[in-house]
Amino acid sequence: MRALVTGGAGFIGSHLVDHLLALGARVTVLDDLSTGSEANLDQVKGHSQLRFVTGSILDERLVDRLTAETDTVFHLAAAVGVHTIVDHPLRSLRTNLHGTENVLEAARRAGARVLVASTSEVYGKNDADGLDEEADRILGSPLKSRWSYAAAKGLDELMAYVYGQQYGLEAAIVRLFNVVGPRQTGRYGMVVPRFVDQALRGEPLTIYGDGTQRRCFGSVYDVVPAMVALLDRKSAHGRAVNLGGFQETSIRALAERVRELTGSASEIVYVPYEEAYGEGYEDMQRRMPDTGLAKRLIGYAPSYSLDEIITSIVAARGGPRLVDQAAAPLTV
Ligand code: UDP
Repeated sequence: MRALVTGGAGFIGSHLVDHLLALGARVTVLDDLSTGSEANLDQVKGHSQLRFVTGSILDERLVDRLTAETDTVFHLAAAVGVHTIVDHPLRSLRTNLHGTENVLEAARRAGARVLVASTSEVYGKNDADGLDEEADRILGSPLKSRWSYAAAKGLDELMAYVYGQQYGLEAAIVRLFNVVGPRQTGRYGMVVPRFVDQALRGEPLTIYGDGTQRRCFGSVYDVVPAMVALLDRKSAHGRAVNLGGFQETSIRALAERVRELTGSASEIVYVPYEEAYGEGYEDMQRRMPDTGLAKRLIGYAPSYSLDEIITSIVAARGGPRLVDQAAAPLTV
């Protein structure tokens, strides 16, 4: 396999690069390093089958040139994290819409297959007990950045789907549900690395709202191999498939668990949503995946418990005792 990974220096992208190299693939990473970091690829730096290109998916000619040399594209580059979306709405829209169109168009020209990373955000406020792929999308006004992000990702999916219908592009879409693991930064909003860093630094754990909102966190180690397996499965082309974890938790319970697993004495504080994200922000109360389709297609069976996920992040940060106490506090 000759693979192009857009966003390959990001959290999920870099784990995917590790996995592809281990499978023997030749990998080109395209990343603009806006939220990703070269340090995420330290483990594979200098690998003979890896090439790193700094650049944007908005650069049509560059995307075209790199795609022409590959047979498989994993399109993960996107504006990610609630804080990024809220703080840079226009840039996020452009990246998520034009960027994806560039990638799909380049793949069509090259005859490459594509995996498009989408998100559980597309389901919006639907809080069903296990969202399957046919679940309705319940979105607020598109003028609210959170929902404009969901709208853009929904259009990305549609574009990939239509490229398949119209041009025969082999495209699979994955909807990722709160994927977490080592290398994920809390800088752009993601709650698990934020809580872990806060706990390790002895700072207060900041729960937004009242902490009764619920999520189901999935391990990057479960999700990444499934992405590759899905693209290999022809019956997964032309459809969107949920990927995520299996263990639901309230954010309050998550904060308590992080405190216990890090042995931290940090207090837990409650921050109003307006203070965290600005006026008019809407959170969803619950988001739980139904991963039955992935199970039927590729035997997907996520195995990492929430405790194991938290522990893997704590360990990657050097464990409770080794953390750099002098590190700058989180400012988001
Ligand atoms: N959250 C929190 N404290 C933080 C960051 C996030 O309580 O420091 C909450 C956030 O409001 C949401 C949940 O944790 O209810 C998950 O947030 P994240 O941004 O990780 O994912 P998403 O909102 O996309 O599910």
